[in-house]
Amino acid sequence: MNTVTGVTLRLDGSRWREHLATVAGATPGIVPVIKGNGYGYGLERLASESATLGADTIAVGMPREVAVVADAFAGDIVILNPWNSDSETARELLSHPRVITTVSRLADLVTLADLGLRPRVLVEVLTSMRRHGIPAAELAAAATRLDGVRFEGWSIHLPLRAEGRYVEVERLSRAALGAAPGPLWLSHLPPEEAYGLARQLGGADAGPVPLRLRVGTRLWLGDASTRMTTATVLDVHPVQRGERAGYRQRVCPADGWIVVVSGGTSHGIGMEAPTSASTVRQRAVALATGSLQAAGLALSPYTIAGKKRWFLEPPHMQSSQLFLPGRETPPEIGDEVPVELRLTTATVDQVLIQEGQRRSS
Ligand SMILES: *Cc1c(COP(=O)(O)O)cnc(C)c1O
Repeated sequence: MNTVTGVTLRLDGSRWREHLATVAGATPGIVPVIKGNGYGYGLERLASESATLGADTIAVGMPREVAVVADAFAGDIVILNPWNSDSETARELLSHPRVITTVSRLADLVTLADLGLRPRVLVEVLTSMRRHGIPAAELAAAATRLDGVRFEGWSIHLPLRAEGRYVEVERLSRAALGAAPGPLWLSHLPPEEAYGLARQLGGADAGPVPLRLRVGTRLWLGDASTRMTTATVLDVHPVQRGERAGYRQRVCPADGWIVVVSGGTSHGIGMEAPTSASTVRQRAVALATGSLQAAGLALSPYTIAGKKRWFLEPPHMQSSQLFLPGRETPPEIGDEVPVELRLTTATVDQVLIQEGQRRSS
């Protein structure tokens, strides 16, 4: 008998932690990234897992996320989004002893250096991402203002594409270290390449350049076999071909079942727009052939009896209506069915961590 309802993320705790430890072990200087929806797990949970892993520093995205993780993690906290004088929270955090602020514009560095607070600061270098950062040509000017802050290093955020990545990071790192020595904080460079770079850039006597590697997705979501996401069957209704159902009163393309499952737009489900079988001809084809695709139904992320099923219509706020052909046996109310979620955009109703066992559906 099921005791859970809603959208559930089940985690095999010991295998997940094994994966985390493997990634951390292969990535000395790792900085776990914990931001947004907490990669589906939640920010606080990841903060305490980072502590368990032995990380000395984590990174959040926005200033307001610091307060969410600060109790669960006792080490340093980097704010990845560039400092912005409009954010009152960001200004207050300049004096926080455990917080490291990222500065991505020369003018902002000048402002922070003149405050007299000597905040802990990473200076971001502009990459081919062209998201944030100080262009290489201005790094020498930036270096002249580092006396006014506690300089923690250079931040370089690379694109995910491998082609040209190493050449770029080497060029930018040389420019940065030429302006001022300091640790390199890198994203999206495989550890082997990063440590190779650190050795290459280090002096013969000084040893490799100190390196910090920020990792989010590969750490938290890197082993899909450690987790399973499910939804609950909330209701099942028989329908006949030609009958209407749903908000949009769509015509059902065949005899079958409407299966109502938990999970909707508020869970981040079904962001893709279904096709619209709007023409009379298409609807006629659909009714004649019973083809769900011709009927304009969109494939859903829900699996019933081993197959992805079709949405009757776009997901609602907290539930979805699926269409199941009549030759099939419908699931029972209360059954859990697998649902494929993109965990960086999903909000689940509960995370259940199970130790040393997995359910098979
Ligand atoms: C979000 C973010 C990361 C983590 O990205 P993943 O692809 O989830 O590993 C790393 N660095 C910076 C600067 C980021 O903003």
